[in-house]
Amino acid sequence: MSTPSLLILPGDGIGPEVMAEVSRIIDWYGDKRGLKFEVSHDLVGGSAYDKHGTPLHDDTMAKAQEVDAVLLGAVGGPKYDNLDFSVKPERGLLRLRKEMDLFANLRPAQCFDALADFSSLKKDVVAGLDIMIVRELTSGIYFGEPRGIIKEGNERVGINTQRYTESEIARVARSAFELARKRSNKVCSMEKANVMESGILWRDVVTEVHQAEYSDVELSHMYADAGAMQLCRWPKQFDVIVTDNLFGDLLSDAAAMLTGSLGMLPSASLGAPMANGRPKALYEPVHGSAPDIAGQGKANPIACILSFAMALRYSFDQGDEADRLEAAVEQVLADGKRTADLLGEEGVTPVSTSEMGDAILGALDASL
Ligand code: NAD
Repeated sequence: MSTPSLLILPGDGIGPEVMAEVSRIIDWYGDKRGLKFEVSHDLVGGSAYDKHGTPLHDDTMAKAQEVDAVLLGAVGGPKYDNLDFSVKPERGLLRLRKEMDLFANLRPAQCFDALADFSSLKKDVVAGLDIMIVRELTSGIYFGEPRGIIKEGNERVGINTQRYTESEIARVARSAFELARKRSNKVCSMEKANVMESGILWRDVVTEVHQAEYSDVELSHMYADAGAMQLCRWPKQFDVIVTDNLFGDLLSDAAAMLTGSLGMLPSASLGAPMANGRPKALYEPVHGSAPDIAGQGKANPIACILSFAMALRYSFDQGDEADRLEAAVEQVLADGKRTADLLGEEGVTPVSTSEMGDAILGALDASL
């Protein structure tokens, strides 16, 4: 197969700082593991607006459609807060997700042992936690029509529509079952079939896809509100959770916080397979551009680095190398290295963004 291609879009605020550490790790894989990538760089968000007057230039969009995977830092910042909605930095990100048709958003909630004290839950509830939330990303109530605010008599009415087709449900269900097969082989599907017709259809279609194609995977169903409670009570009961856009938005944020800092959380958004069999893919940390610490060398690069580990696993079929990178991160944390967002313990001096990168590269070297 030809050299895999990566488009790097560092974005704004801490995006370029954390992405610089990822670039060093990409170089390490080329030098030490013979895993070369054809890397190109471009602008997104505020930085693209500054240069082109749009948060995503058409040429960048076209490039994103061609490469094997896109790695994105973060977009936004106070400088752009008063821009028209149509050119806000976030529109660049939304355009990428929409035009690449990235329908499955993967949000792992993984608790590294060394950080178990950071969770708001008891240590034994979260230590060793490793779950994956698959959120449908391109349909549902955020996109359904009719929508808007209308006038009815003397008052205004706000309207949004939850709408899912069978094929939209089936394709995200397949993503969840495929993932489960590579993990602990369990999927829990969450909806509100007790009060929503779209939930009844969701449950039916997930069950049909399971029976027809994935009966080897253990499937359970849960109402999304009960799921939220179970995530706080005993999250380790789950392996893969699949749910719609709205419930996924809430449940994935709740699950993420089980594990501590925003600076630790990666994500992947995947679409349909391309001609070479790889899915359309965008990898990005969950956090934003953190303008409060941008340019100070304080940002934690781990979320962005773990997003690259997800790219190794889900775009490039390099599960062993993804394991190696995750183990290097775990080792560095176990050694007590902390960026400022991970402090809290007595006697620990924070390391800078690039020192965290140095430490992870050191652990990668040691793994050889
Ligand atoms: P944020 O995620 O940028 O920051 C929230 C808090 O977490 C801040 O105190 C920040 O310092 C801290 N933080 C975040 N990432 C960190 C890291 N890697 N290391 C250390 N600390 C980290 O969210 P916000 O403050 O609500 O938003 C700031 C800007 O980012 C806004 O313009 C917002 O629209 C944008 N945003 C972008 C994305 C994205 O690009 N996907 C996501 C969320 C917010």
